[in-house]
Amino acid sequence: MKFFISADMEGISGVATNQQLKTPSEYQRFRKLMTADVNAAIEGAFNGGAEEIVVADGHGNMSNIIIEELDKRARLVSGNNRVMCQLEGLDETFDGILFVGHHGREGGSDVAVISHTLAGICVNEMKINGQIVGETEMNTYVAGAFGVPPLFISGDDAYVQEVQETLPNVEAAITKRAVDRFAAELIHPEAAQAIIRKKAESAVKNAKNQQVIALDGPITFEIQFKGSQQAKMTTTIPSVELIGPKSIRFTCDDMITAYKHMWGCVIIAMTATNGVLGSVNA
Ligand SMILES: [Zn+2]
Repeated sequence: MKFFISADMEGISGVATNQQLKTPSEYQRFRKLMTADVNAAIEGAFNGGAEEIVVADGHGNMSNIIIEELDKRARLVSGNNRVMCQLEGLDETFDGILFVGHHGREGGSDVAVISHTLAGICVNEMKINGQIVGETEMNTYVAGAFGVPPLFISGDDAYVQEVQETLPNVEAAITKRAVDRFAAELIHPEAAQAIIRKKAESAVKNAKNQQVIALDGPITFEIQFKGSQQAKMTTTIPSVELIGPKSIRFTCDDMITAYKHMWGCVIIAMTATNGVLGSVNA
C-alpha cells in the first residue's frame, strides 16, 4: 500500500508563533522538528502496513524538511514551482493521504495557531461550491478526485475540531492546545510524536474502511482576498469574475482543474500585493 503525506509547519510539535518560523536561528530548530514529526508519521504508517510513502513539503518555500534526516524509506517532493501546490506528486495510485503539521483556516477559530488559508498575505476566505474551506478540506477534495481517501491529521486542537466538522472519521493527533493565534500550550515534541506515530499507524491499518470524499460536477471557487488590488489582477485570467471589490469567482469542470486555477489566482494575488512588477528583476 502506498500513502501520501502532505506536510505543513504551523501544526508541528513545539510551534506556537509565526516568529519561530521566520527568525533564521529559530527556523532551523523548527525544520528539525517538522522533519521529526513527519518521520513519526512515516514510522507509524509503515508499522500500519504501508510499503511506499511520498512526502510533499508544503510550507512557505516548500523546502523545509531536512532530506538527510528524513526516514530513508520515504521520498520527498521539495521546492516551490509546483502546478499542484501542496499536492504535487499525488495521483490515483495512492491508498490514502495524511496531513502532518497542518493548521486552521483564516477566520475559522479565534485561537487556532497561525491560522490562515494557503497565503496569509492575500486570502481572507475561500469557498468551494458555497462551503468555506481550509487547506485540509480543499486538499481532501482534490485527493478525492484521484480516488484517495483522507486518513489522518495532526495539529492543534482547534484545527482538529474544525476539520472534523467536515471529516469526522479521520484519525487525529493533537500536538498542542491552541491558546491564541500566536500562542499554544505545548507538550514535549517526543510526546507529540509518540501520538502521531500511534494515530498514523491505526489510520493506515484502517485505510480500506475510509471513504473517498469527492465533489462531483462543476466546481465553483469564490475567493475573498485581503486587498482589492489582489482581486483585480486575477481578472487577467478570462474565466475569473469580480463579484465584489475584493472577491472573485470562477467555475471549472472538475476539482483538479479548479485547484490549479485557484493556485494560479493566489500566485497572481500574492504577486499583486505591492504591484506585480515591483519585485521582478528581469
Ligand atoms: Zn504553512
